[in-house]
Amino acid sequence: MALYCGFCLSPCINPLCLACEALLIPLIKVPYLCNQCALPHYDHEPCPARFSAYHRILAGYRYCFPLNKLLVQYKHGKRLQTEALLRFLWLRHLSHIPSIPQALVPVPLHPKRFRRRGFNQAERLARFAAEALGIPQLHLLKKVRHTASQQQHTREERMRNLLHSFQCTAPVKFQHIALVDDVVTTGSTANEAAQTLIASGAQKVEVWALARAF
Ligand SMILES: [Zn+2]
Ligand SMILES: [Zn+2]
Repeated sequence: MALYCGFCLSPCINPLCLACEALLIPLIKVPYLCNQCALPHYDHEPCPARFSAYHRILAGYRYCFPLNKLLVQYKHGKRLQTEALLRFLWLRHLSHIPSIPQALVPVPLHPKRFRRRGFNQAERLARFAAEALGIPQLHLLKKVRHTASQQQHTREERMRNLLHSFQCTAPVKFQHIALVDDVVTTGSTANEAAQTLIASGAQKVEVWALARAF
C-alpha cells in the first residue's frame, strides 16, 4: 500500500492522489482518437500514420504534466521512486488492450546510452507487460546507429537520421508482435523499428507505449 502519492508526494493510500489522478489523461477517454495513430483527428482527415509500417499505436496516456515529468525523472536518476507508479499506470492501461500479441519487443537504446543510463525504460515496461500477460519479451532489435535527440530536427532530418538505425538480432518467428516504448512522439522511431521487424519476418507489429505526445 502506498503511503504517499507517486507524483506529488502528498500523503495518500493509493499510488496517486485524486488531484494527480485528475491531471492524467487516459487516451481511452479522448474523443476522436484515431485507431491507427492514437492522435485525435476526424475520420475524414488523412491519418498521419497511413504509410507507417506498424499496424497501430496503443498508448495509455497523453504525454503531458505530470506524466512527462515522471518519465524524465525515471530516466535520469530516480528510478526506484518512480518505477512503482509507472508500472501501476502501465498495467492499468494494459487491462484495456483489445488483443494480446504473441511476443513483446522493447525498443532498444544504443549501447552507449544504455551504459550511461544503466537500464532501458522500454525494456522495463516490456518486462512488466510480459509478466502480467504471460507472453515472452524478446530482445530482437539492436540499435546500430546512435541518434542524437530528435526534437530539434525537421521531419526529413529525423527520417534520415533514423534510417537503418535498427537491426534484427534473429529471424522473427512470431507473426503478431507488440513493440514497446515509453513515449511515442512523432512515431518515426516506432516506424523504423516496425519496418525492421517486418523485414525479418513479422506480419503485424503494434506499438505499445505508456504515453503519446500531442
Ligand atoms: Zn498527487
Ligand atoms: Zn490517425
